[in-house]
Amino acid sequence: MRKTALALIAALLASPAFADRLIENVNGIQIGADGRIHRFGSVLMREDGKVKQVFTARIPRIPTYVETTVDGQGKTLLPGLIDAHGHVLDLGMTQMTVQLVGTSSVADLQQRLRDYAAAHPNDAWIIGFGWNQELWPDKRFPTAADLDAVVPDRPVVLERVDGHAVVANSAAMKAAGVTPQTGSPAGGRIENGLFVDNARSLIDKAIPERTPAQSDEALAKAQAQLLAVGVTGVGSMSTSIEDWEAMKRAGAAGTLNVRLMAYIGAAQAAEAHMKPTGWLYGDRLRAVGLKLFADGALGSRGAWLKQPYSDKPDTRGLQFHSDAEMLQLADAAASNGFQVATHAIGDAANAQVISTYETLSKKYGRGRRWRIEHFQIADPADIPRLAPAGIIASMQPTHQTSDRLMAEKRLGPNRLAGAYAWQTVLKSGARLAFGTDFPVESPNPFPGLSAAVSRQDMKGQPPGGWIPSERLTFAQALSAYTRGAAYAGFAEDKIGSLEPGKWADFILVDRDPTKVDPISLWNTQVLETWVGGKRVFQRSASATVSPTERGR
Ligand SMILES: [Zn+2]
Repeated sequence: MRKTALALIAALLASPAFADRLIENVNGIQIGADGRIHRFGSVLMREDGKVKQVFTARIPRIPTYVETTVDGQGKTLLPGLIDAHGHVLDLGMTQMTVQLVGTSSVADLQQRLRDYAAAHPNDAWIIGFGWNQELWPDKRFPTAADLDAVVPDRPVVLERVDGHAVVANSAAMKAAGVTPQTGSPAGGRIENGLFVDNARSLIDKAIPERTPAQSDEALAKAQAQLLAVGVTGVGSMSTSIEDWEAMKRAGAAGTLNVRLMAYIGAAQAAEAHMKPTGWLYGDRLRAVGLKLFADGALGSRGAWLKQPYSDKPDTRGLQFHSDAEMLQLADAAASNGFQVATHAIGDAANAQVISTYETLSKKYGRGRRWRIEHFQIADPADIPRLAPAGIIASMQPTHQTSDRLMAEKRLGPNRLAGAYAWQTVLKSGARLAFGTDFPVESPNPFPGLSAAVSRQDMKGQPPGGWIPSERLTFAQALSAYTRGAAYAGFAEDKIGSLEPGKWADFILVDRDPTKVDPISLWNTQVLETWVGGKRVFQRSASATVSPTERGR
């Protein structure tokens, strides 16, 4: 008898109902399946970290015992935000290299390089990231001579903010075996130490590989930064095999807190005979797709356009693949069970990728969720082709605010109708997923939400918004950053909204984003971040995050 009673108590103690946790008294906001804003007041979580029930009431009456109750103190609670397109290890690495984001001139770049070189006398190679000559007074690209003047004795390679060009000093070119006789490869360009698009590989191949310990450190630094800005899931783009191994190590060690939907670089995946995986480590990691490229970027005039560049009429940018080649690459990825995510910026590149996916949709079906990454400049005539082929537009709102003036120059006034055309994409019936392309932009999603609703930068420019007809409602923008990004990664049954059976991934923020102006929305601070029902980040009382902080 006594034994039976003990067994019963033991069984009751082990029952999940006894370890339920409640977060109550919150101003909960999320997007429902109907695409509208749904408000709620408290969330009951199961012991396994999933949502048990969402209540309208702030102080709900729950018939069973709740082990832990957290008072949300009326703060605003949102589902964890999902960045559909980011570069996770690169984000961490920006904290382990020369920081050049926001440099104001070549002289400023040289000063940061000088400081870094002095502080890191033992680095055999000096790697830097983030310069953008568009922000400099003379808009001149940096040269090998500019770097030689500061560091003549060690190789230096500095990457442009969009990742589509690097500048190398003479020591780096010597180490890479590049001479004045070296010709530009197809789809690339060499100019006074500047290596654009496909020419990059000439330098990149000489840079010493990252060690596993450096990868682990980069992943840890990236995760810390993402959680601090409320990002709990990422479409991890261009994931290398080394990145993937680091992610698996973190998963096995139980230190993977951001859920990663990995898109492996296509060439690397083929070399490593990689296949897609299911969810691993409690839905923290999954190899879901392959990343392909159709063209370069607009800033370096690598984006492939249907008509010549307005500010350089002798070029239409860089076409990476013939139509047949692109189809063959995407078909190979799809036949191995991978989702296909293809970078396309220019209108010609986007048209090519759409045609590719239309063909593959007939072969594999719309359910493959073909992704176009960026979909930045589209011919308006091509946008209605997305939805019928089941193509997802994976876009980055802060690219619009960062690129606006540059895009006007590159494209001229008559080719902007399909540029960063979020509302037109939604109206066409296509799915939209939002992200930042960090570390190209800050991983902070709130500037993106603000740009999405305003088409204005953090200074409120331009007044009324740039092509204001493409503004989204806050509900549309939040949906693209939660449900839309989850759908784009085949994860909508697990994340993107707080519903019974989905993970209790959520954030507490310091303001109600539905009740503030765009500038205030831009500056939203994340107070706490929870993943799988556990608090994994809490802001200290004094700390604030600058909306443009990129991991200094
Ligand atoms: Zn990217």
